[in-house]
Amino acid sequence: MCRHLGYLGPAVPLAGLILDRPHALLRQSWAPADMRGGGAVNADGFGVGWYTDDVSPPARYRRAVPLWTDASFASVAAATSSHAVLAAVRSATVGMPVTETACAPFTEGRWLFSHNGVVRGWPESVAGLAAELPTVDLMTLDAPTDSALLWALVRHRLRAGAAPADALADVVRAVAAVAPDSRLTMLLTDGTTLAAVTWWHSLSVLEGADFVVLASEPWDDDPQWTSLGDRLLVTATLNPAPDVRVRALPPDPD
Ligand code: GLN
Repeated sequence: MCRHLGYLGPAVPLAGLILDRPHALLRQSWAPADMRGGGAVNADGFGVGWYTDDVSPPARYRRAVPLWTDASFASVAAATSSHAVLAAVRSATVGMPVTETACAPFTEGRWLFSHNGVVRGWPESVAGLAAELPTVDLMTLDAPTDSALLWALVRHRLRAGAAPADALADVVRAVAAVAPDSRLTMLLTDGTTLAAVTWWHSLSVLEGADFVVLASEPWDDDPQWTSLGDRLLVTATLNPAPDVRVRALPPDPD
């Protein structure tokens, strides 16, 4: 698996989102509750992206070590606040490298992206899709992993002006067509909109009066957490109350 989380709301310390809850990503890194997809822990690294204002690229911190071993991150996370965060803990798919650059979130400009799952038959199964990308994109992937390629495919659509949910939907459809049984749950944000697609892996939503969280697993036993179904597109914004829209993944327009 891998476990990830996206947050929009008032500025809060990163530790409050990632470390301090009873079942926060910290605990999910060594004792995840939903084991579908295999793997026992998410100890192959972690990453956090967070926005410092409404115009700058987000800050990002990634390490190829288990989240629970990084005491320096715990210290920084207690002292750093943000209004928009995307964070992930990683369980590397067999055959993929354990390296900092393979850890989500992936980023460009204001975008932050993470993928939970696996592309079946990677890389051969998706070679045709990769061929649609500019050569320079393929030469500069963050890492030789399925997730890094998925980000390149999503980013290509965002650069062309696609709305975030449409970019995710289009990539899921394209990848699922050539690599059936792939697991393609993804999160994407620009610090204002949080978009997600559920494709086999779990995702839950928590809406407060002025914040919204999308997370692989609820960070506590608050009954307000809602488990989202499979094959859904989710878009969340704040106006300033959360506006969360969930719809079935539309079929291919072709
Ligand atoms: N396949 C991706 C990787 O290896 C994501 C793994 C996961 O979701 N467990 O990084």
